[in-house]
Parts: sequence; C-alpha cells; structure tokens
Amino acid sequence: AAAVKAADDYCKAYMQFLNDAKTEREAVCAAVRLAEKNGFVPFDPSAALKAGDKVYVNNRGKSLILATIGKKPLTDGVSIAAAHIDSPRLDLKPNPLYEDSELAYLDTHYYGGIKKYQWTATPLSLHGVVVKKDGTAVNVRIGEDDKDPVFCVTDLLPHLGKEQMERKATEVVKGEDLNLLIGSRALAGEEDNAVKLNILALLNEKYGITEADFLSAELEIVPAFKARDLGLDRSMIGAYGHDDRVCAYPALTALFENPHPAYTAVTVLADKEEIGSMGVTGMQSAAFDTFMEDLCEAQGAALRVCLENSFCLSADVTAAYDPNFGDVYEKKNAAYLNYGIGLCKYTGARGKSGASDASAETVGYVRGIFDRAGVIWQ
Ligand code: MN
Repeated sequence: AAAVKAADDYCKAYMQFLNDAKTEREAVCAAVRLAEKNGFVPFDPSAALKAGDKVYVNNRGKSLILATIGKKPLTDGVSIAAAHIDSPRLDLKPNPLYEDSELAYLDTHYYGGIKKYQWTATPLSLHGVVVKKDGTAVNVRIGEDDKDPVFCVTDLLPHLGKEQMERKATEVVKGEDLNLLIGSRALAGEEDNAVKLNILALLNEKYGITEADFLSAELEIVPAFKARDLGLDRSMIGAYGHDDRVCAYPALTALFENPHPAYTAVTVLADKEEIGSMGVTGMQSAAFDTFMEDLCEAQGAALRVCLENSFCLSADVTAAYDPNFGDVYEKKNAAYLNYGIGLCKYTGARGKSGASDASAETVGYVRGIFDRAGVIWQ
C-alpha cells in the first residue's frame, strides 16, 4: 500500500509534466525548469568538472542532454538513459491559412504515426513558435487554459457518411482532410476572404504576426484535454503524449534522485524519434557525440574509451496486452499492465529487421541490477 501511494504521488507530478509538456519544445522548457530547481546549470565545456556537478545542454530548444558527474573517471564509462519527447501530432503547413465557404481553416501535415480518424471531432489546441523576419520569436499556446478557445477537425455526420464508412480505416479521413477549423466570423467592411482576414487581424492584434510569418513558424496541433485519472479505481492515467514522456520524465527525475552517482549519469531527451530521429535535434545528429566529447575533454579522457565502457538504456513505450485486441499479441511474450516496466531485448519487423538485439550479457546485466534493487519489471 505504501508503494502504491508513493507511485500515485509520483504520478501527480508526472501528470503535471504531461500537461506542461505537450510538445518537444514545451518538454525541454519544463525539463529545464525542473533541472534548474534541482541544481543543474548550463554546461560550460571550458570549465573543469568534478564529481557531483550537474550540467545540461539545451539543443535548440527541442532536445536536452543532462549529466551528473560521477565519482569514477569518464574512462570507466557513463550510464545513459535516453527517451524521446516528440509525439505524433498535426503540424501546420508553411502556408496554412485559407478560407472556404466563409469558414477559416489551417491546413496541416501530420507528424509521426497517427490514426487519422482519431483526430476529428475532438478538441484540439495550438502550440509552438513563430519566428519573425527580425528573429524575434513569439510563443503560441492556445486551447490549454479553460478560458481559451479550442479548435477541431470536423467529421461527417452519420447520415451523410455512407460512402465514407465504406472506405478502409486509413482512408475514412484522409491526410489532406485534416484541416483545422479556426473561425467563421467575417471582418466588418470586407467582401472577399473576410473570415480569413478577421483571423489575421486577431493574430496580429494578439501576437503581432502577419500571414507571411507562418512561413517561419513551427505550430503543432495536439489534443486539448488534460491528463486525467482513468478508471473508477484511479489506477491508470489517460493523457496525450505518454509516448514517450512516460520514459522521459522518469529518466529526468532519476537524475534528481541520485545526486552522487558512482558512474556519470547521462539523460538524453531526444526530438524527432517519431519521424526517424532525423535532423539536428534527433539522435542521428552529432549532438550527443559532441556533448560526450566535450565532457571527456573536460577530464582529459578519450571519448572512444568512455563510449566503449558506457551503458545505455534506450527507453520507449511498449504495447501492453489488451484483451480487446488479444489476437495481435503473443501472450507468452507480451507485457502486461501492473507488472512493471517492460524490458525489450529487441524490436524490429519480420526477421528482426532493424533491431539492435541486445546481447544476453546486456540483458543479464540489467535484470541483475533490477532484481538487486527490487525493481518490478517484465
Ligand atoms: Mn515512442
């Protein structure tokens, strides 16, 4: 009972993180706020590092690497936990705003793997940043405050949806149909595109932006609802973005709870996982290697020796057995709710294609640590 109470208490802060961090940019801001509260400071590669020092690198506001320097030298290796902070969503296209039949819309391009039909007829919020030509950035977050308006993608009423309902699920709502309804009131005195012009006037009044500023914006549409207890027994959490804040948040708080590690502890909160880890804030970039190289240089350690002796848990969500869809799971090897964190030796498709396939030694090492520490895992 005490353990369940502790878990419930931990999850209250996790739910706050879910609400504060619906996008990768917001996740970095929230994580930096928590890290600074726990004594982390921006990493200065020219400064000497000693055991117990706590540093972070904010990579362009979209990914974050943090480290607590250990007692052992970096040549003994570091312990790394890596998780991602981007989630599937609808992004605005560079030229998104249009009017059709006296309704104003924002045209979107979906990001990551979504079931498109799930994004209709549900309240949505708009998050992100608009960078003007002079370089000033305007932060946008509309639809999260209870007083804010929300947006939606309309669906077809059942009586007119006969043809739609006969399509296969990937085409019930097509990607190009994901247009966000954002207005219907005309700007007084205008004839053409008066609804669109009214939206532009509102955007200009509130944010000082013009239509051309959409070209240099990153605006993301996500579900507007907040994290909630799920179930009469409140045993679960219903929220947007568990994947992968459910790993990112513990990877972060684990650092806070271990201020004097033997081995240097590194947490990586990565962007762009949902679309192949590409780009300067994804794991395919040089950001992590550069950070590790800078850390090693501060101790005069060779990077390759450090990496060779390092250990990384690549964290992400796994699918737990759902009896509603039992036939897609292999019961003997599926993860189950309430049986602890899932340790996945490999993923990959068909003949393990694309899998890293952790070695028996690696899995043995991790299960040994978990069992000695009383960690519930499966
Ligand atoms: Mn994931």
